[in-house]
Amino acid sequence: MSTNQEIKIHILHCGFAKVDEALAYRAGGLNPLAFTGLLRSPKHRISLPLTCYLIQHPKGLILVDTGWDPLVRSSPGKALGLMQSMLSKVQLPEGKAAIEQLSRLGYQPADIDYLVLTHLHADHVSGLKTLSGAKKILVSDIELKAAKRNPIVYTSSMWSDINLETFSFQPAETGPENLAFDLFKDGSVQLVSTPGHTAGLTSLILRSGDQFILLCADVAYSERSWKEQVLPGLTTSRKKAKRSLEWIAHLSKDPACRGIYASHDGSIAEQLITL
Ligand SMILES: [Zn+2]
Repeated sequence: MSTNQEIKIHILHCGFAKVDEALAYRAGGLNPLAFTGLLRSPKHRISLPLTCYLIQHPKGLILVDTGWDPLVRSSPGKALGLMQSMLSKVQLPEGKAAIEQLSRLGYQPADIDYLVLTHLHADHVSGLKTLSGAKKILVSDIELKAAKRNPIVYTSSMWSDINLETFSFQPAETGPENLAFDLFKDGSVQLVSTPGHTAGLTSLILRSGDQFILLCADVAYSERSWKEQVLPGLTTSRKKAKRSLEWIAHLSKDPACRGIYASHDGSIAEQLITL
């Protein structure tokens, strides 16, 4: 197990979504649909980034998630499904689409060895068509199965024509379910099963030397989520979502933990991290 390889992680905000705050931080109260913004005052609306990660790893170039398709600028209705149009107002400044950010960094989609999808919600896969030239596009088998079964929450047109490759979580020493997929079989990139927000939600642990970084996708929306144990508004299993959040809280106290990054945390700046 050699994990002494330098890993560079570009944190990229690939657009924004204006959503009800209860989508990120589950609201108490009497409105069970608060997260949709229905019957809620606009004062509850917050703008959240859609973060993608470009990971330069000695064994391959990895992109995590896609953010919005540039098409949302001209035809948001066509580019997004009904659910997504209802949940969020879309913003994609010029130059901020994942494909545009890649090109700025000197890459084409065909340079991506692995495009890892944390889950198949629209805000994570909207840009897939522009990145379909990636060598491998990976999603957990559990997530793809769940997405095929739920056409209301998932917008299948975003991925149905794409050559998705599924991976299966294996028994592992890490993760809330002790299930993970070790991408390079050396412990340096672990795709960890962290269900609750969706059934097949995948977080990534990136490890180099004696340190690691956790990209926790939508398990949490910011540090507040794991410090105060606030579940996301949208969950397929509250019990699993809670277990996944507890696991993050536990990891956050590990001295080897260099940082935990959620996919929609506006307090995190775009930056390059060297691990
Ligand atoms: Zn999301």
